[in-house]
Amino acid sequence: MKTVPFKRASNFANHWVLAEQLIQLGARPPIVSQLCRLSRQQSIDLYKSVKGCSPKQGMLPHDHQWVIQSAGRNIHASIFLGILDDIRRRLSIQHATAQVLVDAFSLYKNIASQIFIGPKAIPPVTRQFTLDINRAWSLSSMLLAGDLIFTVCARCKARFLSVIHPNATFSRCPICDVWTDRSGRRRWASAKSKKPN
Ligand SMILES: [Zn+2]
Repeated sequence: MKTVPFKRASNFANHWVLAEQLIQLGARPPIVSQLCRLSRQQSIDLYKSVKGCSPKQGMLPHDHQWVIQSAGRNIHASIFLGILDDIRRRLSIQHATAQVLVDAFSLYKNIASQIFIGPKAIPPVTRQFTLDINRAWSLSSMLLAGDLIFTVCARCKARFLSVIHPNATFSRCPICDVWTDRSGRRRWASAKSKKPN
């Protein structure tokens, strides 16, 4: 009988632990399979076991313009990808691993809950998470592909995401280049925007 080398067995167990953590954070089976070296069926079975229901069907989110559709989305995406990029650079790795995604998304949730949901929440960005881990994974791929880049605002010094893509080039600070409408929603400032007096 063949024995599994200790190191390989350890890696295998580690992949399953990370897969479970990803699913608990909301990751869908295709992402879990890709990051944790599990088969599609293994990921689906684990998802059902952890969540107690079948995973959502359909395409994973992938939209280059998602981060520029509102200042609130840009803020959430900039916080998450800023954390992920810092971890990745600190570890000197080119790609985001399952462990990096788990760590970055857990930190993002923690920070976002304190900034946007706690008793000292900053209204009116949003009172709920607008970034789920599947969208977060898609955005990290765009960052690594160079479709999204970080820009530092010359006024407030915030690090925010800009889109560099043939169909959509956009670079505005989600803190400074916005105005607030009557409902309290932050909107991108533009030539057509009417800032309230
Ligand atoms: Zn700014």
